[in-house]
Amino acid sequence: MKRISYRSFFILFCIAFVALVAGAVYCGLSLRELLKNYATADVQWPLVACGILCALAIGALIFFVWLLYRMGQERLYRTAYVDPLTGSHNFHSMYTRFEEHLTALNGKAALVVLNVVKFKVINDLHGYQRGNEVLQQVAQVLEHFVAENETFCRMSADNFLLLLSFENKNDFAQRMMKLITQLRRECSAEETRLMIDVALGIYELPTPAVPFYIALDRAHFALEKAKTLSLHKYQFFAEEDRSRVVAEQQMENTMHRALSNREFEVYLQPKCDFKTGHLRGAEALVRWNKTDGIVRPDEFIPVFEKNGFILQLDMFIFEEVARLLQQWQEKGLSLVPIAVNFSRLHLNDDRFVPQMRRVASSYNVATHLLEVELTESVIFNNLQRAQSVLNNLHRYGFSVAMDDFGAGYSSLNVLKNLHFDSIKLDKEFLGGFQDNPYAQNVIEGTVKMIKKLNVQVVAEGVETREQVDFLKQIGCDIAQGYFFSRPLKADAFEQALKENVPLGK
Ligand code: C2E
Ligand code: CA
Ligand code: CA
Repeated sequence: MKRISYRSFFILFCIAFVALVAGAVYCGLSLRELLKNYATADVQWPLVACGILCALAIGALIFFVWLLYRMGQERLYRTAYVDPLTGSHNFHSMYTRFEEHLTALNGKAALVVLNVVKFKVINDLHGYQRGNEVLQQVAQVLEHFVAENETFCRMSADNFLLLLSFENKNDFAQRMMKLITQLRRECSAEETRLMIDVALGIYELPTPAVPFYIALDRAHFALEKAKTLSLHKYQFFAEEDRSRVVAEQQMENTMHRALSNREFEVYLQPKCDFKTGHLRGAEALVRWNKTDGIVRPDEFIPVFEKNGFILQLDMFIFEEVARLLQQWQEKGLSLVPIAVNFSRLHLNDDRFVPQMRRVASSYNVATHLLEVELTESVIFNNLQRAQSVLNNLHRYGFSVAMDDFGAGYSSLNVLKNLHFDSIKLDKEFLGGFQDNPYAQNVIEGTVKMIKKLNVQVVAEGVETREQVDFLKQIGCDIAQGYFFSRPLKADAFEQALKENVPLGK
């Protein structure tokens, strides 16, 4: 719609007003003259002039009313459909005309959410005004970028939405790359060190198209993934990702209730003496008993590490272990130490060691029966913190094992600086040694080095007789793996404690 500015309206109004006043004055004078000389004068011309002026006045009035109407209409349109900052369409416009735009593209379209990466930082570092300018520049680039029948809008803050024609994924990806490069180039300003980057979430609309909000949700979903990329931040929506996130969301929604409903259960996997096969300890491994089956920790621990719930879950498992040890102690069974896995999040939690002490004392369990397993990568990343936590744990009599040794960096610096009671060799590290003398030497050398430190060596994931023979021969102390036993439910483990017979195939 054509714009009518307030200024031009005012000028038009002034001209018309002056004309009206002049007309009215002239009419008045003419009428006076007319009345004065009514009988004698030639009355023709003032009457005509009067009529013309009246018509003009009515015309001007109609024109004003029409102008006012147009302006009102335009104001309404602008508030409803135009983004005041960039002058481009707003979200409402895109939403209400989505079907229309889609038809114009023959249904072959993709919805793209564009986000200015770290826009908040731009506002904070360069000021609000500069931030606004960036958004205006982005809108300008998009204005030239979209082809006929394509459209875009500013959706909210630093998010734009584009509806573009889509033929095939490769061409579209290339086009997106070009757009990213163009925006980076045209919106960045080297002199002020303002570097702009954008992330794009792309959803290829199916035929028949899904409702607008579903398409938008999927494009947003892809955007979240795109933001995590380091180089070319564009991502197409993939159904598998969404299912995963939905599953994660469901876990998050149900985890607290599951904890209070005691859906998390401790399984215990025996650790056996390599030489005799006798039980020397166990590792507590959590399982989630859901109505539709048992869920393994690899599926939910990463989710709980992200949202912090792991702090509660680990403590729950630790308390369950203390409770079991207390029961078996009261039954007069000869006990073995039980190890509990603790997430890296505990290292930075000052309540960690005090909580452990409280649990151990309230169940009346000697602390040497409780072991903490910390993974190697955790320790590697927080060496100093780990040192202080380890010292604290040792002061109160808990044992500490380094888990998954050989799976990651295996920093010798960690071994040099921290004193562990045992080191667990990762099953990946122990794998593939058959017919590989070089690998055998590495494993043997590692075991010897650890033994020299007076630290117990535990081999994880021991599955075959061949592994047992080799690991026993090179001096490993303790074995854990399916060869000896799978993780057991608490009552099955109690049975193994009672029987106290060698385990293994
Ligand atoms: P992990 O600490 O390395 O635990 C050993 C994993 O190897 C267990 O898997 C165990 O069932 C499996 N395993 C044992 N023997 C064998 C074998 O001979 N062959 C093979 N292929 N696998 C074997 P699980 O129970 O699924 O646990 C996976 C990981 O989840 C654990 O790895 C641990 O990092 C974590 N996890 C388990 N329970 C807890 C917990 O209560 N808290 C925390 N923070 N993490 C836990
Ligand atoms: Ca472990
Ligand atoms: Ca392990």
